[in-house]
Amino acid sequence: MTEFIQAVWQKLAEHIGHETATFALAIIGSAIIWPSLAWCGGKLLQARDFWRSRQRALGAVGQTQTPDGAREGKGVWTLRPITPPENYKNNVLGSRILAIANLKGGVGKTTIAANIAAHLSHDENWQKRVLLIDLDYQGSLSSMVFPDGQTWLPPKGTDSVATLALSGDVAPSTFLQACKKSPVEPRLKVVTAHYDLAQADNRLLVEWLLNKKNKDHRDLRRKFADLLMGRSYQPSEMRYNLAKLLHSEAVRENFDLVIIDCPPRLTAGTIQALCASSHVLIPTLLDHPSGESVVSFCDQIEGLKASGICPYLSYVGIVASRHAAQQNAWLGVRNEIQDQINLRNLKCGFLPSQTFIPQTVAMVRNSEEGIAYFSLQGSQPAANAKQAIVTLAEHVAAQICVPRVPSFARDLQLVLPVAAE
Ligand code: ADP
Ligand code: MG
Repeated sequence: MTEFIQAVWQKLAEHIGHETATFALAIIGSAIIWPSLAWCGGKLLQARDFWRSRQRALGAVGQTQTPDGAREGKGVWTLRPITPPENYKNNVLGSRILAIANLKGGVGKTTIAANIAAHLSHDENWQKRVLLIDLDYQGSLSSMVFPDGQTWLPPKGTDSVATLALSGDVAPSTFLQACKKSPVEPRLKVVTAHYDLAQADNRLLVEWLLNKKNKDHRDLRRKFADLLMGRSYQPSEMRYNLAKLLHSEAVRENFDLVIIDCPPRLTAGTIQALCASSHVLIPTLLDHPSGESVVSFCDQIEGLKASGICPYLSYVGIVASRHAAQQNAWLGVRNEIQDQINLRNLKCGFLPSQTFIPQTVAMVRNSEEGIAYFSLQGSQPAANAKQAIVTLAEHVAAQICVPRVPSFARDLQLVLPVAAE
């Protein structure tokens, strides 16, 4: 080997001179030595993290000791290191992604997600390309959009699109093809979820805690650039999988607005939704137990924001659903929740009462038939519910800066025939 290098050096020296040859060899040498050292360094870091992964997992789920005995700890989601993707701040602030969340079930999250998506995509003044993401393995949003039975279920032997999206190993173009078009409104597309998502939520948590290395999706040029910059080893980071996908150029170009229906638990899916979203809307019933859950959820969001996991997430606010305006008790509950929120100095408050979705049988019956918005008519309660949905949807759109169709564009559509797909 040394003889070979000497021979090369002598040949070079004959051709380009002694000094230039020494200089050229020094450059070539360091171009080989530095990446090799960086690669070895990366492998050492990987081995170190592998060695520590058990401790890391047990530390994250472990209890804390207090003078009164052991108590549950802070939970797993604030685990360090936190490694958001490149350009994360700009991507979040520049996106229009709304998480609809509350850790309590039955408070109207799914109903509100589907109905405001329906209005903003279908109404001629809005015509937005909306992506609805179902992150609850019960699939109630999916079955609401596709009430005709089985068409939305993942084919036998495959996972649901929600699982693919959270797993972080789907290319944006494949993801876009897998989103299903609503049978009523082609501008509305859905990422469907099914029971495989329950297993995926657990798998993602365990793999991340144990620092399992994911498939490396960087292209060769990127890998080499990272190697030169000493970033050959990237610790496992699952919390931003959905953010990376939804902030990708392909997804941003295809949708004006993304609405994520979260499950009533702090799952891997909920955390990924909060990390990907620019805004969060919190539906609640106006009774005492639901009020407590809103305040506790706000505390959890604040904890996540303060630890740097989703620091740019903003509140749209809190909205009442299944609202019985004629029963005066709701006002007391609303004020109590607002007082608690004010005590904490949070930038979060109740939306105007005109946005509260009234309790009506029309919403229940229609949700089994499809999204209620498309068939709410024929009675005063149905008309009131529709009016509330429209007011809520337009209030949300204004808060997250989704614009209406400009009037000149609407006028133009009346003149020009719509191109067939
Ligand atoms: P979550 O997603 O928070 O669990 P859902 O949207 O699934 O809540 O609603 C829970 C139940 O309440 C469903 O059976 C739904 O049909 C019903 N529901 C939701 N909104 C209304 C409403 N405005 N009036 C009457 N029933 C409603
Ligand atoms: Mg739901």
